[in-house]
Amino acid sequence: MAKGSSKAGTGKYGGGMTGGNTSVTVKSSHPLTEEISKGGGAFANEIMNTRDAFESEYGPAVKNMNLSVATFSNSSVLGAYGGDTLYMAEKYVKNKNLTAAMKQAEQSGFHPGIGKRTGAEAVASHEIGHRLGEVAAQKAGISQRDIVARAAAKLGIKTENMAGHISKYARTNYGETIAEASADVYCNGAKATRVSKAIMSEVKAILK
Ligand SMILES: [Zn+2]
Repeated sequence: MAKGSSKAGTGKYGGGMTGGNTSVTVKSSHPLTEEISKGGGAFANEIMNTRDAFESEYGPAVKNMNLSVATFSNSSVLGAYGGDTLYMAEKYVKNKNLTAAMKQAEQSGFHPGIGKRTGAEAVASHEIGHRLGEVAAQKAGISQRDIVARAAAKLGIKTENMAGHISKYARTNYGETIAEASADVYCNGAKATRVSKAIMSEVKAILK
């Protein structure tokens, strides 16, 4: 469960940039389908729809994911990906303020802009990006750094400079670079940075 956490770096959800993987402990979780069956808020559908959009774009790597709402031991964590499960922090995804917090994180360059997406969609697209990065690396028999390096070679940018074109948090490690590129491309479409687009093209080329 150590991989794939996402923190907002500014504002009330602040966590600041951390080096390396953030260790995340899931205290409890329940599937998003429960939220929907209980008539739970739009956020549950937003996350399910995000997953569906990724599945049509990147194929079956996204299909067999469990989607859960969770509580974490670290209260500043917005979401996490581990095993086959994407966890969204209950206290934030149910909160309309998540979108405002993500907008604040985009102002500071901590996370990519979220465009017209909601906070829940932005966090989900980041966490799903972890899934894509891991599955693509495994399928190709390379590292996540190698995926970023392939995109870097096509752009004529040094591999280690790629993340800086996406967001501050993308510089944490190459897993976060791909996750942030995933969120950037999902939220901003054609307006995403060329670096994010190049990285996700490499991911897609491997997965499809
Ligand atoms: Zn992450």
